[in-house]
Amino acid sequence: MTTLIFAPYHKDQSLEPLSRLVNAALGLGKEVHVATAGASDRAFAQAAAKLAGVTQVHNFAPPPTDSLGFDDMAAALAPLMDEYQALIANNTGTSKHVALHLAARLSIAPLTGISAILDRQTFERPIYAGSLIEQISSCDDKLIATIRTAHFEPVEDQPSCPIAQRSAPPSNRRVEVLEHTHTTTERPDLAQASIVIAGGRGIGSSKGFQKLEDFADHLGAALGASRIAVDMGWAPHHLQVGQTGIQIAPDLYIALGISGAVQHIAGIKDAGKIIAINKDIEAPIFKVADYGMVGDLHLLLPQLQKALAKQPSQANKPL
Ligand SMILES: Cc1cc2nc3c(=O)[nH]c(=O)nc-3n(C[C@H](O)[C@H](O)[C@H](O)COP(=O)(O)OP(=O)(O)OC[C@H]3O[C@@H](n4cnc5c(N)ncnc54)[C@H](O)[C@@H]3O)c2cc1C
Repeated sequence: MTTLIFAPYHKDQSLEPLSRLVNAALGLGKEVHVATAGASDRAFAQAAAKLAGVTQVHNFAPPPTDSLGFDDMAAALAPLMDEYQALIANNTGTSKHVALHLAARLSIAPLTGISAILDRQTFERPIYAGSLIEQISSCDDKLIATIRTAHFEPVEDQPSCPIAQRSAPPSNRRVEVLEHTHTTTERPDLAQASIVIAGGRGIGSSKGFQKLEDFADHLGAALGASRIAVDMGWAPHHLQVGQTGIQIAPDLYIALGISGAVQHIAGIKDAGKIIAINKDIEAPIFKVADYGMVGDLHLLLPQLQKALAKQPSQANKPL
């Protein structure tokens, strides 16, 4: 069985999710090819070609993967699928959209959010915010699946495999992107960060969130938020962690004033250590926390910051 991995590139893309996808693909069969797209040069394709287990890279240029180009990318991949029995992609963003467009084009029922590959046709995925694990089997001749990469280990390096340059068919879209404005931040990307500091309703205000930023900066951490904090307008939507936000797997997750609703916990199931600060000793977050502090975060946070100020800054250092 030969599996094609769809791997779009975006600015500051880490190779790690793709490396984990390769491991997942090896669970389907020994032949793994990668279709890269979205980079203005060949560097991402060259890095993909050095992941152990990858035997061919198709590099699409010019890249049809801006935010409206999902179906264009699916159209580019569709003819390639004659050669493949399976296509897998990350369960996030562009990857997921393109996989679903491709599935629609090929009349395949896509499987999304896969967390384990039991055999070529049988898979597991969490449902109901992770309270149930569902076992599913694909009845189609070909498989299109999106994978929760945090559940798979990265692969090692290998000598480079061949890279074929591919071009996408002319665009069929009827809407144009006029402008992209970059939101720049010095902080690590929430999806990739090894430390995440997240705030919930207990933070109390936008000002409270600004205090979290100082704390995050000292630890070299990314910022996250509960849905309530986002709904209140204290944090932007892209920082929402959970079932309808993003699922993260940091080494350390610090939850401040977050109750620990099942929909929030769904986003931090793969976190290494969890520290919770909450004034309610009965808060469900303490059931999943490795360490907990019970008390008013507005009193505890300054004390914690004072203690940490005596330590060297951890910004840019691995945990
Ligand atoms: C379909 C669906 C999808 C959802 N998706 C998500 C999602 O992706 N992510 C998500 O987060 N939620 C999601 N939710 C919402 C979720 O159910 C909760 O409502 C939300 O997570 C609660 O956010 P919170 O913990 O900040 O607020 P609350 O539940 O109100 O908890 C606030 C906590 O702060 C504590 N606190 C208050 N003041 C202080 C203080 N001064 N010091 C210390 N502690 C204090 C309180 O004791 C309390 O435990 C979803 C809900 C639904 C129905």
